[in-house]
Amino acid sequence: MNFELRILGSNSATPAHGRHLSAQVLTIGTDVFLIDCGEGTQFQMLKYQVKRQKIKHIFISHLHGDHIFGLIGLLMTYDLTGRTKPLHLYSPAGLQAIIEIQLNDAPKFPLHFHVTDPSVSTVLFENSRVEVTSIPLVHRAPCHGFLFTEKQQTANILKEKIAAYQIPYQAIGAIKAGANYTLKDGRVIPHEALTQAPAAVRKFAYCSDTMYTEAILPLIKGVDLLYHEATFMHDLLPLAEKTMHSTAKQAATIAKKAKAKQLILGHFSSRYYDLNPLLEEAKAIFEATTVVEEGKAICIKRERP
Ligand SMILES: [Zn+2]
Ligand SMILES: [Zn+2]
Repeated sequence: MNFELRILGSNSATPAHGRHLSAQVLTIGTDVFLIDCGEGTQFQMLKYQVKRQKIKHIFISHLHGDHIFGLIGLLMTYDLTGRTKPLHLYSPAGLQAIIEIQLNDAPKFPLHFHVTDPSVSTVLFENSRVEVTSIPLVHRAPCHGFLFTEKQQTANILKEKIAAYQIPYQAIGAIKAGANYTLKDGRVIPHEALTQAPAAVRKFAYCSDTMYTEAILPLIKGVDLLYHEATFMHDLLPLAEKTMHSTAKQAATIAKKAKAKQLILGHFSSRYYDLNPLLEEAKAIFEATTVVEEGKAICIKRERP
């Protein structure tokens, strides 16, 4: 099952220097999730061939314009192109009023608003492949990030063992689920000898917008990939604190303390044309850091134990 992130926008507040506003597409197997939807998201989707009709769930971190102003255009496109599939929107309170005031008529496809509580971490969505949990953040508006966790798969059966012990097809489901197998002569073959342990679950955490907060550490511990906002460099810490954003150094500190495997910095202030100084500032704390390259697919590979 693929687990792929494509970041469509990485600038804060206004588009600048070829960078767009916040939007990310996460594909886990057949599920395609949109995270935030800043102005210009549709153009980025077209440029990077994102299959927008596959999106059934949109997760909005907060109601600042740079995270939602692309939404109305996308909803209109869905309506004009004859969408019939339901669409689910998850966001703090207020989004429904913002959308409805802009729409002349209700869309012809079912549009479901799910009002979230950004003050507590809750499961927002789950199916057989993935669970999406909110991450309470600290910002000027009620705001949360999102943790996408792959569901644990069952153990893989070792075909050569099944053949060697002549285990019937009907017994395989139980073995996969953890059972041992008893042969006709009474010998018990342990589950571990018949299977390969499942791959570790993969996790992606989206943390934007927020000021530095260690309260998120237990929620994002050990994630494979952490996107953390880094609006400013650390010399502008007072401005970061005033506007309730983070610095590159703070994002890296969070990644290090959370023992994340990889960090991606984004949500940059337009004052930065060159992002290398932010990258260097973060790498001094947490080596496995990159800055967003818009449109590039980032795949998280399965790791066998
Ligand atoms: Zn923002
Ligand atoms: Zn904001």
